[in-house]
Amino acid sequence: MKIENYEAKSLVRQGGVSIFSWAEIYLNPYQGCYHDCVYCDGKSEQYYMHEDFGERIRVKTNAPELLIKFLKKQGFSSVHSKKQFSIIDYFPAFKKDAKSDSKPKSIITIGGGVCDVYQPAEKEAKMARKLLEIIYDYQLPLWILTKNKLVLRDIDLIKKINKESYACVNFTITLADERARKIFEPRASSSEERFEAIKILRKEGINSGIYFYPCLPFIGDTEENVSSIYQRAKEVNAQFVNCAGLTLKPGRSKNEFMNALRINYPDIYPKYEQLYGNENKYGHLDYEQFKKLNLVWPEIKGYKYGYELGLSFVADRYVPDGRMATNLKIAELLLKISYIKRNVIHDSKFETQDFNKASHLVENSTRDFGLLVDEEFSEIPTSKSVRSIIQEYVEQGKSSYLQKLEKKAYENVMNKYYS
Ligand code: SF4
Repeated sequence: MKIENYEAKSLVRQGGVSIFSWAEIYLNPYQGCYHDCVYCDGKSEQYYMHEDFGERIRVKTNAPELLIKFLKKQGFSSVHSKKQFSIIDYFPAFKKDAKSDSKPKSIITIGGGVCDVYQPAEKEAKMARKLLEIIYDYQLPLWILTKNKLVLRDIDLIKKINKESYACVNFTITLADERARKIFEPRASSSEERFEAIKILRKEGINSGIYFYPCLPFIGDTEENVSSIYQRAKEVNAQFVNCAGLTLKPGRSKNEFMNALRINYPDIYPKYEQLYGNENKYGHLDYEQFKKLNLVWPEIKGYKYGYELGLSFVADRYVPDGRMATNLKIAELLLKISYIKRNVIHDSKFETQDFNKASHLVENSTRDFGLLVDEEFSEIPTSKSVRSIIQEYVEQGKSSYLQKLEKKAYENVMNKYYS
């Protein structure tokens, strides 16, 4: 592993929420990732990463300064670094208000799609830890996704963040079989170490779930592998498992994957050629070949096991300080409905779009939906059925539509794929 320090121009990426992550701010203190997973999407030329992505790790040494600069520009101020005592300390009743900024907060994530912040370089560079200190200092909610148990080194700080706002530490786990895991994720912690890390985090009251991405066709999507991962997830008290398939972007990313497959799984290799021979620029598989090969979408398999074990397919949404709780929870509800319709029931795209658009609208509305009164619901610019879902949630804090949909989706899956 070669480590290269440099002063970066940027660290922060801002984005909207999705069913896969409730975070809105992403920090990447590294370029490159020594975990060097064979299926890593980050190696694709589309992300303009250096060629020796898995060997040369570029460390943004000024990442802490860049984060502080960003937070100050956003109007946040540090909480814990403020002077130790002030007049407010003599009036405890006012202290709570003084503690948090009025500025609406967002969940912040360290790491992202193109680097794992707890990769081996972190042992020395300690960039993740420095960023966590700032996140704690500014009292912001935290989200982490990693494949390395090294994250446990920082459990002291993560616990403090969780106590004051929220921390969710998630692991990617794709293969229960250690031989297969070593082929595709050669330098990450073993899957079992990751499960054990979840167990420890959950015992400490920290939120934690699993990203079962990518669920590799013919290797990770076997009933044996999928059921093992869900079963272990349940045993270690994970809160959710989100399962999704593999994309193979043409170029470096796909070439490397196919080479590894040819060497380690020569019998499966031709099926991948068939499945990904379309050279789709986003790496999507060829749907016609998918049907010919009698494959079942990983989302469907995951949904079945998750439903049976009482494991959600998504993390429960945390509402950061200063945000309109009802709006954010409605947006979450509509995205959940959309996910089930699109990925499990395979409903028409049009109907799914209705839910996505409404979710976006509520998420970004400046109007507090929790304060709407009866006649105002008819003014919401969406379909009648979506309006009634929103109204039920506002009035009763639950959705009978979602409950019925979850059950119907499970029954559909069982009748269609498991009978
Ligand atoms: S851990 Fe993530 S970013 Fe790192 S190599 Fe693996 S897939 Fe890529």
